[in-house]
Amino acid sequence: MGLIMKRIFEVAPWNVVTHKLDKENKRLQESLTSLGNGYMGMRGNFEEDYSGDTLPGSYLAGVWYPDKTRVGWWKNGYPEYFGKVINAVNFIKMNFLINGSKLDLYTDKISDFTLDLDMKSAVLKRSFIVEKDGVKVKFNFERFLSVAQKELSVQKVSFENLSDDSVEIKVISSLDANVKNEDANYDEHFWEVLEITDDSIIAETKPNDFGTPRFTSGMQVGYVTGLKEIDHTVDKLETSKTFVANLESHEIGTIEKRVAVVTSRDYETVDDLRDAMEGISAKVKDVSYEELLSAHENVWDNRWNQSDIKIDGDTDAQQGMRFNLFGLFTTYSGEDSRLNIGPKGFTGEKYGGATYWDTEAFCIPVYLGVSQPEVSRNLLMYRYNQLKGAYINAERQGLKGALYPMVTFNGIECHNEWEITFEEIHRNGDIAFAIYNYTRYTGDKSFVLHEGSKMLTEMSRFWADRVHYSKRNEQYMIHGVTGPDEYENNVDNNWYTNFLARWTLKYTLQILGEVSKDQFEKLNVSKEEMDHWQDIVDKMYLPYDEDLGIFVQHDGFLDKDIEPVSSIPKDQLPINQHWSWDKILRSPYIKQGDVLQGIWDFIDDFSEREKKRNFDFYEPLTVHESSLSPAIHAVLAADLHYDQKAVALYERTARLDLDNYNNDTADGLHITSMTGGWLAMVQGFAGMRVHDDGTLSYKPFLPKKWNSYSFRQVFRGRVIEITVKENGSEFKLVSGDPLQIQVNDKPLMLK
Ligand code: BGC
Repeated sequence: MGLIMKRIFEVAPWNVVTHKLDKENKRLQESLTSLGNGYMGMRGNFEEDYSGDTLPGSYLAGVWYPDKTRVGWWKNGYPEYFGKVINAVNFIKMNFLINGSKLDLYTDKISDFTLDLDMKSAVLKRSFIVEKDGVKVKFNFERFLSVAQKELSVQKVSFENLSDDSVEIKVISSLDANVKNEDANYDEHFWEVLEITDDSIIAETKPNDFGTPRFTSGMQVGYVTGLKEIDHTVDKLETSKTFVANLESHEIGTIEKRVAVVTSRDYETVDDLRDAMEGISAKVKDVSYEELLSAHENVWDNRWNQSDIKIDGDTDAQQGMRFNLFGLFTTYSGEDSRLNIGPKGFTGEKYGGATYWDTEAFCIPVYLGVSQPEVSRNLLMYRYNQLKGAYINAERQGLKGALYPMVTFNGIECHNEWEITFEEIHRNGDIAFAIYNYTRYTGDKSFVLHEGSKMLTEMSRFWADRVHYSKRNEQYMIHGVTGPDEYENNVDNNWYTNFLARWTLKYTLQILGEVSKDQFEKLNVSKEEMDHWQDIVDKMYLPYDEDLGIFVQHDGFLDKDIEPVSSIPKDQLPINQHWSWDKILRSPYIKQGDVLQGIWDFIDDFSEREKKRNFDFYEPLTVHESSLSPAIHAVLAADLHYDQKAVALYERTARLDLDNYNNDTADGLHITSMTGGWLAMVQGFAGMRVHDDGTLSYKPFLPKKWNSYSFRQVFRGRVIEITVKENGSEFKLVSGDPLQIQVNDKPLMLK
């Protein structure tokens, strides 16, 4: 596909490993070696100070700051603040003095460097030999964020004296609140230290003018080491301890650092917070590193057992697929309905760690297949619990009901690009779709009949107010929107938006017919209101072109100068890095699936001919400049038996970050796009569908390059293993009750 790639790690099935300290691409190295446990996470920054270019980043899930909006020209209705996930107090920091001289990998002479992210057990390892002032020392670092005890960070560092003479190594280990965000509108420090002791810091986010909660985080450090503690310093923002080892030739020194990290999200008062971190520290004090690691590894083993994907014959693809699942698991583990999935997770500041429509449109379909239903349900509960914010967003636009935000931490819209914030309202349909998708996949109706019905009702109220009636056409229309294709703004009658609005109203009416009498009364929907919704359903305008037999992306789209992406000179791609915004807006090029996003959502409801005509028309115009784009096109291509195209699109999604295709992974990983590999393989190559009657079906094919692939899928209390080989496919029930599925339109009983 003529993509430019930058591959800085070796290809290995379970590891992201390199033997080169890549100073030119340090940020990229850091992004690709990020760790997370759903509760906290960090980039692959070094423990010690590094004087070269680096982007420090450790983040605590759900801990954010409302950064006052900064724009040149204020538009009425702009959000007052942009929520940002903030850099946490640096709790991994450890500096090393070798015979008094500070270790700095940017300037020191090093050899035998290895940086190795083990995806199987989520452990980051680093080793190297440093030669400095006539001595030689080998360092080994290991760290993990425990998934068995989510508030626990564990580090182990050992150093071996490879010189003939003895060497003094000093370790200065700190908790450091002197941290900043690179992306801060007013260059402020977001933390204020409340308490600082020899081995702990309690810090609170600074006050804000917007009435959003302040967060407190507490960190308590403990060490396991044979080294001698010789000093400690407690400054305003940093607390440090110094340890020393005098190592004879070939002697090894070791220090383990364990930090309990707690926040006011779980402990209301500072006293509770302090008790909690002290409690966790005490609990792990006498547990060995091996035991802590093995508890952590067991959880990861279970995860992989439930969801690993094996690709035989293509290690590139294998590594890409695991890296994607790893990215998702490290970001969101699903037990806390106050958390969500930021587009860059814990791997960078960009996108502020906030919640986007990515969650409902791309992540929920994957989490449904790889984890227990509670995980997806919690993501829906997150939105239910933020309804209040959605009322405020609608009201600020002078509209009724609930408008979910495009970007948020608390339900309130916090992004100030007018064409996205106020126009990209399709999200209110995507969230409705996710409720339906969850219900269809899991068979669990309890959400939709309770919380879901409330959300649907309020979103329908928004749609009913947002549409207008065109007397001339005698149809309902929606003007002034941006569809998923953000390379078109302020368009009228975006097919996707109109289609989802109509579908939401229809689905809401259906659900209102199914809720209990009690719930119906609570929802307080009048007969007139329902009649009006039905009228909109019946008379919604959906642009269609008879000649081409396609749904038209929006009014006027077909009057553009339509030439395929293949006609753009290669050196002008990606267009968003080469063309003016004006040129992009006028062009026919589509950033990411728009009409095709809708066809993917409702893939069962369109005829073969409809799918083909629309795909053949729109895909050649699509530049896929959102990393969310290729995967859904891969699914549609596979559905249409365009096998080669499906594989090409899959490749673009599966190694997006590992090969840095979009040339922006240095900022952080594209976590929500990491769903793409799974979607392309499971929905695409294996043709997995769940139909309205709850039937699970497959139509598998094997990409030519591969010998076989296999994956496990969670479905209604079962784990199913699917293996696709050259000579056919095998389906195995790993656990749970027997189930009848369909394979290539024929029934198959799994026992
Ligand atoms: C995409 C959006 C997406 C956002 C965050 C943008 O580039 O166009 O659809 O929500 O990134 O991932």
